[in-house]
Amino acid sequence: MLTIRDHHSGDLFDPWAHLGPQRRALLEKSWAGVVRQHLLSHLPVSELAPFFDDNLGRPGKDLHVAMSALILQQMHDLSDAATVEAIAFNEAWHYALDARGEEDMYLCERTLRNYRAMVVAGGLDEVLFRVLTDQLIKTFEVDTTRQRLDSTVLRSNMRKLTRLGVLCETIEKFLRELSGHDAALYARVDPALLGRHVDREQGGCFGVARPSEAQRRLPQAAADLLLLVRAFAGTSAADLPAYALLERVLREQCEVINSSGGEGEKLRVKEDTELTGDVLQNPSDPGSTYNAHKGQGYTVQIMETYTPQPPAAHQPQEAAGDGQSPAQQPLKPDLVTHVAIGKMTEYDGAAVMPALEDTASRGIAPKQMLGDTHYGLEDNRQQAAAKGVELISPAQPPAGSQQEPPRLSLEQFILDDKGQVKQCPAGHAPLSVSTSKSGANYQARFDAATCAACPLRAQCPVQKPRSPRDPTVRLQYQQERLSMRDRRLAEETPQFKERYRWRAGIEATMSRLKHQMGWAALRVRGKAAIAYEAFMGALGLNILRCARCVALNARG
Ligand code: SF4
Repeated sequence: MLTIRDHHSGDLFDPWAHLGPQRRALLEKSWAGVVRQHLLSHLPVSELAPFFDDNLGRPGKDLHVAMSALILQQMHDLSDAATVEAIAFNEAWHYALDARGEEDMYLCERTLRNYRAMVVAGGLDEVLFRVLTDQLIKTFEVDTTRQRLDSTVLRSNMRKLTRLGVLCETIEKFLRELSGHDAALYARVDPALLGRHVDREQGGCFGVARPSEAQRRLPQAAADLLLLVRAFAGTSAADLPAYALLERVLREQCEVINSSGGEGEKLRVKEDTELTGDVLQNPSDPGSTYNAHKGQGYTVQIMETYTPQPPAAHQPQEAAGDGQSPAQQPLKPDLVTHVAIGKMTEYDGAAVMPALEDTASRGIAPKQMLGDTHYGLEDNRQQAAAKGVELISPAQPPAGSQQEPPRLSLEQFILDDKGQVKQCPAGHAPLSVSTSKSGANYQARFDAATCAACPLRAQCPVQKPRSPRDPTVRLQYQQERLSMRDRRLAEETPQFKERYRWRAGIEATMSRLKHQMGWAALRVRGKAAIAYEAFMGALGLNILRCARCVALNARG
């Protein structure tokens, strides 16, 4: 039965009077004070109401207490057992949760798990993050005009499997589900297949093989996969989640030739090079994907506000930039404003517009946005500009600039105001320059003999002479390349470097999320559970940052 207690109305008698003024002040300046004063009454508890009956069943826990406990659990990176203990005996938790009696101070592990499952099932983790973050931004008057975006990887708590491992684990998972679903259907499974994949006494661990054997066993595992898909198509087993995984793995890892099911049907195991990063990595987490640089898991995009001036509280002896002392200028927290979970195969550049749209829909869009090279695509810059946002991001370095010795590029040539080459990197003027009628294409011609003798020739982008009789070599470029040159040269200026240097601060946020919020070693798997960790962890970090500001401002 639904229980929502009133946390808005004041008390006739102060229930926390027993704490004494000093302990009370300590609590009010901590995360407990932030949760109690600024968040508790704004929890979207009504979103959980559909999971309860108004009249039937035992009265549930106060939804404020249950939701807050879930937030605090993520904020402190606690196990369920440790959370239950904290709810029962920790006075700071009681203060934060506004726990008044025994019924508020005891939550068994199972109840905690049930509430968490409701939050995950209802997608309330995202709602909680948005509603409460927006509330903190409002309460602490956080300036959201400057924000920075970056991504990190969240790894599921799952084993890394070989291709043979993926096939065999998928088969085993299906057989396990089938045995629990319908004994009669399970009895139809080929005993030899059961011996390879289930019956441990007959060797069962077909997927456990040395790498040299794995390649040999792969066709047999693929044949078993096809056999099961064919045998149970059209039966009630085809509705099992594991059957869908069988079909997916068959589609991703194999090619069925002449798939009519007759004698002409053949099965080909695809080459490694034919597989993409989107293929199933482990049947225990179908949403996890693979990136050659970052490995398996999920990408999480994080956007946060930043303050360009070092916080006054970090310089207690110095006046702040506008001449005010730190005591006159209260410290404001930098808060995570946007969290998004995506595939490892998605390019970071695709995350810019969703981040801007999300923050704009909540009225906290930035005016300036910092991101690394991956976010700074020209398309993104133009679309962001159309929304009134300046995307500050370095351009991709010119091709060959990472080589040793680096290739020269248009940036090393001196151009005039019209975009024509005046001088090459070796200090030579071109024999002639020209522009196409459309004005889109440019060309500079240099003396071939001079270039042939030039020590920079191997690095220079000028083309070879068109024929042995051609006395010139050409440098050709387009109008868009000129724009890119302007952008790259602007990035060399101290002004750009000063503006861009604040991007690096988000690495510290990522580090805190990984090591303080437990993102580095998650105990869950599956996209929904990973998203829960991401949203609640980011919210926990926001609360801790607000609490730190409250404490520093109180210190003066
Ligand atoms: S190769 Fe020719 S154009 Fe290039 S730097 Fe040398 S002289 Fe200049």
